[in-house]
Amino acid sequence: MLSKEIQAEVEKGTMLPLMEEFYTIQGEGFHTGTAAYFIRVGGCDVGCHWCDVKESWNADLHPPTHVDRIVENASRFSETVVVTGGEPLTWDMTALTTKLKDANRRVHIETSGAYPLTGIWDWICLSPKKMKLPVQEVYDKAHELKVIVHNKHDFVFAEEQADSVNKDAILFLQPEWSKKEEMTPLIVEYVMKNPKWRVSLQTHKYLNIP
Ligand code: SF4
Repeated sequence: MLSKEIQAEVEKGTMLPLMEEFYTIQGEGFHTGTAAYFIRVGGCDVGCHWCDVKESWNADLHPPTHVDRIVENASRFSETVVVTGGEPLTWDMTALTTKLKDANRRVHIETSGAYPLTGIWDWICLSPKKMKLPVQEVYDKAHELKVIVHNKHDFVFAEEQADSVNKDAILFLQPEWSKKEEMTPLIVEYVMKNPKWRVSLQTHKYLNIP
C-alpha cells in the first residue's frame, strides 16, 4: 500500500511505476537499429491477449520512482529515450518528458493511444489496439502508425486505422511474434500490393537483446 504522499506524486507524474530501464537497440518500427535508452513504465488495462509484457499490467508491482532519478539514469546512456510500457499514457507524462527535454534528450513514446496525450514528444509511435481505440489527439499527432498483425482480420483493422491517423504518419505492419511464421509472408505480400505500408519486424527478438 502506497503512502498518500507517494500516491499523490504518482498522480502528478513526478513519480512513475518503473518496471525496467535499459540501454539497447530499438528493434522495431521507424527507428529500428538505432541505440536508445528504454524506460518501461508499469500499468496497462488495454488487455491484448497476445501481449508480451503482461507483467507490466499491474502498476502496483512496480516501484514508484522519482522522474529525476529516471532522467539521471537515461542521460548517462543515450541521446534518445523511448518511453514504453505498459501503457505510458496511463500516467501524466509531463514531468518526465519536460525533464528529459531539459536534459537535451530526444524523447519517443510507444503507445496504444488509448488515453489522452500528455508530455512533450519528438516522436510518437502509435500502435492501436482493437479493445481500446486511440483518442483523436494521438491519431492527429502520431509520427508512425504500427499495426500488429495477429490474424487476417488485422489487415482490415490496419486500413481503418490508416484512415484515422494523420496523413503524414508512416505506416507499418508488424507480425505478432507468436504468429510470425504464418503472418510474415502475408504481410510481405500485402505490402507489395499496398506500398503505402512498410514491414516492421521485432528485430531485437531475432538479435536476442531486450
Ligand atoms: Fe500489452 Fe501494449 Fe496491449 Fe497493454 S497495449 S496489453 S502493454 S500490448
